[in-house]
Amino acid sequence: MATRRLPYGYKFDGTTIIIDDIEGKIVKEIYELFCEGVYITKIKNYIKNFDMSRHKVKRILDDKVYTGENDLPSIIDEDLFETAQKIKNQRLNEIGKNQDKPYSYVKENFKDKIVCGECGADYHRYKRGEEYIWNCSHKVFKRKICYKNISLSDEQIENIWSRIVDKINENPKLLECKENGLKQNSGRYQALDREIKIAETDAKEYSQEELIKLIYKRSSVMYEMSDYKKEIKKIDITALDKFTVYKNGKIKIILKNGAEIEEKI
Ligand SMILES: [Zn+2]
Repeated sequence: MATRRLPYGYKFDGTTIIIDDIEGKIVKEIYELFCEGVYITKIKNYIKNFDMSRHKVKRILDDKVYTGENDLPSIIDEDLFETAQKIKNQRLNEIGKNQDKPYSYVKENFKDKIVCGECGADYHRYKRGEEYIWNCSHKVFKRKICYKNISLSDEQIENIWSRIVDKINENPKLLECKENGLKQNSGRYQALDREIKIAETDAKEYSQEELIKLIYKRSSVMYEMSDYKKEIKKIDITALDKFTVYKNGKIKIILKNGAEIEEKI
């Protein structure tokens, strides 16, 4: 007979299912902290010996079983559960997730924003089997995608962005306008500039047409940068300007106000 695993927070005492003292307390604390406004990534700072992935915390916050469904003893009341769902929806709006179409939101919101930090080309979303994968669109050799950089899944992109949103919420100063040093600091501009220099000296790998395209792109990046200096009122997906990917797994986010934030995959 297959044994169904009990949800976190419960145990079997030989005859019935009961609340596990330690785990049950943790479940309750997760709900309470989350409803007080603590971000999922910060919950570990409040609970002793807390060792749980973000994904698992999310699953716990999704599971109505803790209100006493399916004849399990209740750990939290319905009000707390409903409050947590409301906050979760708010957070989803913050990261730009369209709840009617949860699986295409990355495609819709990140297209034209993800950039290869190694060569400056855009990342495109390609179908691989049943899944979609983002890769640098730069074709160095015929039909070969930029070998220097890494692939990303929709889920990874979504995760990175929600961590960034957490960071911004914890540090609202990031929403202020940044005016200085943008041109020098923009990784995208630098990457393009570097590649143009290589292209100018290596006629074998780059055609004249490709070189012109690169130069055109560099000037459009420069033009875009002069359009910055916007104060961002609140954080949502429209505040994202560029999402730059590096082969070592570093992600550099540039917001519309010019602020830069780094994350790791
Ligand atoms: Zn590339």
